[in-house]
Amino acid sequence: MATQRVSASTAEGTAEFKHEVSVSSEEELNSYLIAREQFDRATALLPDLKRGLIDFLQTPDKTICVSFPVEMDDGSVRNFTGFRVLHNRARGPGKGGVRYHPDVSEDEVRALAGWMTWKCALLDIPFGGAKGGVVCDPKQLSQNELRRITRRFIADLGDNIGPQIDIPAPDVYTNSQTMSWIYDTYQAMHPGANNLPVVTGKPIDIGGSYGRDEATGRGCLFAAERFLERAVITDLNSLCGASVAVQGFGNAGSVAAKLFAEVGARIIAVSDSQGGIFLGKGLDIAAVSAFKEEHGTVVGLPGSKTITNSDLLELKCDVLIPAALENQIRRDNVDQIQARLIVEAANGPTTPAADRILTARGIPVLPDILANAGGVTVSYFEWVQNIEYQRWELEEVNAKLRRRMRSAVDSVVNHWQHFQQTVTSDSAVEDDETVSSNETSIDLRTAALALAIERVSRVTLERGIWP
Ligand code: NAD
Repeated sequence: MATQRVSASTAEGTAEFKHEVSVSSEEELNSYLIAREQFDRATALLPDLKRGLIDFLQTPDKTICVSFPVEMDDGSVRNFTGFRVLHNRARGPGKGGVRYHPDVSEDEVRALAGWMTWKCALLDIPFGGAKGGVVCDPKQLSQNELRRITRRFIADLGDNIGPQIDIPAPDVYTNSQTMSWIYDTYQAMHPGANNLPVVTGKPIDIGGSYGRDEATGRGCLFAAERFLERAVITDLNSLCGASVAVQGFGNAGSVAAKLFAEVGARIIAVSDSQGGIFLGKGLDIAAVSAFKEEHGTVVGLPGSKTITNSDLLELKCDVLIPAALENQIRRDNVDQIQARLIVEAANGPTTPAADRILTARGIPVLPDILANAGGVTVSYFEWVQNIEYQRWELEEVNAKLRRRMRSAVDSVVNHWQHFQQTVTSDSAVEDDETVSSNETSIDLRTAALALAIERVSRVTLERGIWP
């Protein structure tokens, strides 16, 4: 085991952040390389895809790195680094969140941008994929400093974002307030036009959509419900009575916990960056949220047992929802996972090695590009409403989201079952003694990616390679 320390360059030199990740020394944890490995596994299922198209589809269209000074509240000046990656725009303008975190790197943003391309294609949303981030520690910054960082970052991106070019949204440690500042900055730079669709996840009174705040967690719920209805897991075909553990209690995790509880699931554990809490009979999620609001963490909720984030991942439960950061389920802890289904609210929480072991153990993973696509789906609804100067009722938004999530789950499960049959019968013909069923198993992530890649490549060819 080795400890990986994350560094980033600032005006005052190289700053080291406290966030440390314990990693198995032999496992690759670079998100971009992980995304490539996932992509390669999926394209191996698509023998008819042109070689040059494969290269095109895995390479970002555009990577922007900006470096800018910001005046801090104490009068000092600090330099910040920000990234925006437009991965692919074959199906429409770029779409993807903006993340503020000390660990943001170009490779991480490139990986996240690619996952956005596949996510939008899976949900059949007319967007390509993009992502952005600023290397900073929001917990150490005031609201005024965050506003100045946001305005300067957006000003430096200039016309690389726009309502028909690339549309940001919230992600880790950014929220509707950040989106307001993005809108306001872009509006100041482009007066006289309807600029509301330049960014989604805005507050309701600045063109935000009802349901956007809860969309990622609600999408996870709809995806999990539909997946269980398909009777893929023996004796688990509903969330009613299911035990659920949620890692991360931010936008994605807290809403997922609340909504899963509302349909009768027992939320036995939740966590945040400071640790986790456990209560076998089920936590009262409203009480957890109120406690977190007051104390800044879920840890210490009266009546609950304090656990670590590792303990939470290893709990015996029906559904595990990683809703924090990447690389949480890895080769070094995957054997301890006891969940029967993993629903990835976070992006990239499971490494490829862990994926293979989970598949071999028969634990399905509803992959990020499917499970957490509710956020971008309602972002798309917000964009449409902004363009049309409309406001849809919450019930309408949720009903449309439910239909899209269920349909996407059905498409992925159908594709997965089709690939399973094809690969199993092919390997049986080749040599039924040397190929074990585990080696031939295709996981849901690979099937989902293959479906998304097929859709993007089809549009690319239909449009014609320019000129
Ligand atoms: P957030 O900032 O609202 O919440 C992040 C949560 O994770 C916080 O509770 C934080 O304390 C916790 N956390 C941070 N480090 C942790 C650690 N090491 N261990 C355990 N918990 C930790 O962010 P969010 O928007 O909820 O995003 C969470 C994940 O969901 C990210 O992977 C993000 O990309 C993904 N996601 C978010 C959206 C969205 O609409 N917000 C959409 C799709 C995917």
